[in-house]
Amino acid sequence: MSTRAPAAARNSTRAPAVAARNLIKTYPGDVTALRGMDLGIEAGTVFGLLGPNGAGKSTTVKILTTLARPDSGTATVAGHDVLRHPDRVRRAIGVVAQKSGADPVATGRENLLLQGRLYGMRGAAVKRRADELLDRFDLADAGDRQVKGYSGGMQRRLDVALGLVHRPEVLFLDEPTTGLDPEARTAMWEEIARLAGDEGLTIVLTTHYLEEADRLAERIAIVDRGRIVVEGTPDELKGELRGDAVHMELRAGGDTGAVTTALTGLPGVHEVLVDGGRVSVRAEDGAAAVPVLLAALERAGAAVAAATVARPSLDDVYLRYAGRRFSEAESAEARPAAVPTPAGGTR
Ligand code: ADP
Ligand code: MG
Repeated sequence: MSTRAPAAARNSTRAPAVAARNLIKTYPGDVTALRGMDLGIEAGTVFGLLGPNGAGKSTTVKILTTLARPDSGTATVAGHDVLRHPDRVRRAIGVVAQKSGADPVATGRENLLLQGRLYGMRGAAVKRRADELLDRFDLADAGDRQVKGYSGGMQRRLDVALGLVHRPEVLFLDEPTTGLDPEARTAMWEEIARLAGDEGLTIVLTTHYLEEADRLAERIAIVDRGRIVVEGTPDELKGELRGDAVHMELRAGGDTGAVTTALTGLPGVHEVLVDGGRVSVRAEDGAAAVPVLLAALERAGAAVAAATVARPSLDDVYLRYAGRRFSEAESAEARPAAVPTPAGGTR
């Protein structure tokens, strides 16, 4: 993403921004929210915790932000142990919870000033910071209006501004766009991408939107039932599902036998399927295969009207590692009784 700080601006020898090992958390009523959560997040990066509702994302954030204690396991944030030095952790982090923490009857500016003062900022410095953030989050005109009159998108932008008042090293965003309309969501994505360009800022983002994680996060950990099932860059994760699907529409020509023969055995091309004027192949690298495929079709006398390359989606990755579709996992959470128990041995 072009808005990110250049790699050289990041200090790769810095301690990880977040390191968690084997976090276990059980809630009253025998709900096991985390069953061995491990995380390592490099400073200065955007990290996405992606999982369906009920996966344990918010519980993880609560533990890392000192709002909840794990039953067992360890975690450090910005180099500080969350259990031994929660005060140090709190000074180093900004938190945007899943539910807004802004005071609805105060104005946006008053919320920012109060937040700054809670962090020990005083006088002109805190006023300047409030102005700067109102400006930056496009709230300057609304700054002196009560928050309860803000749109959903404005409230969410204020929430993020509140998390940044004291210039944290690590910003936690728990589902920053859930409940926003598509336009406000896109605006928030742009904002987060811009934040990611702030030198040194680490962003830990939870989301149940595959597209959001794919678009914003440099690395993604997929969370399912209280643990990480797979982690990597979006491209690495999708790349684990070998190959791209290349679909081509033929304009003319295209004797099925001749087309099949022309494409079969091309380097990096598998599973040639010809169905009338539609040709589909699996290719190790779709973009690289397209010119090769087009040339072979031309030699076989077939004219191509259109070609598209489809990458495997994160939903495909989730299916492979969690053993069910993302949408099924989401609806399973709506019916808790349907969630298999760990004792049942189901992944
Ligand atoms: P996510 O943020 O991924 O949707 P959560 O961490 O909120 O997941 O929840 C993980 C599991 O823990 C869910 O089954 C949820 O119902 C349960 N849970 C979360 N908070 C509480 C709580 N305060 N008391 C009891 N159960 C909880
Ligand atoms: Mg949550």
